[in-house]
Amino acid sequence: MSLTAAYDSQNIFAQIIRGDAPCYKIYEDEDVLAFLDVFPQSYGHTLVIPKRSAACNILDVDTEALCKMAAVTQKLAQVIVAELQPDGVQVAQFNGAPAGQTVFHIHMHIVPRFSGEGLGVHAAAKADPAELEQLQARLLKRLAA
Ligand code: 5GP
Repeated sequence: MSLTAAYDSQNIFAQIIRGDAPCYKIYEDEDVLAFLDVFPQSYGHTLVIPKRSAACNILDVDTEALCKMAAVTQKLAQVIVAELQPDGVQVAQFNGAPAGQTVFHIHMHIVPRFSGEGLGVHAAAKADPAELEQLQARLLKRLAA
């Protein structure tokens, strides 16, 4: 997918926003939605997306939506670090297939990193649903605390 391709409203994140596809939701407000990555690269891998912006990437997203997504990313990174106690946390955002983007609705990755544990392969192995449910419950509880 090129950097200038048109937005496809059938992409999986657009389906999740519409409620047409499920997700392990961690956070939602009027503008932003966050949910667990089902092909996580580490325990706690979370995605943050703007809900109202039909933007593929950082080049075409409106600045207000980008800022709101960034603010929620920071808040959730704090919550994830507090709950999971990783040794580091990666925040990443990819634009265009050659840069590693596979879903063409702009999003931020929050990837906790644990010393001695390598990074899982990007968008490769599906997590156990029971583990995702348990993780979702932990993060929701921490967020509400
Ligand atoms: P990108 O490669 O575009 O930066 O990131 C897309 C992310 O979406 C990948 O990390 C991939 O694992 C994740 N992903 C792909 N399909 C789904 C899905 O159906 N549900 C969820 N929650 N994540 C998905």
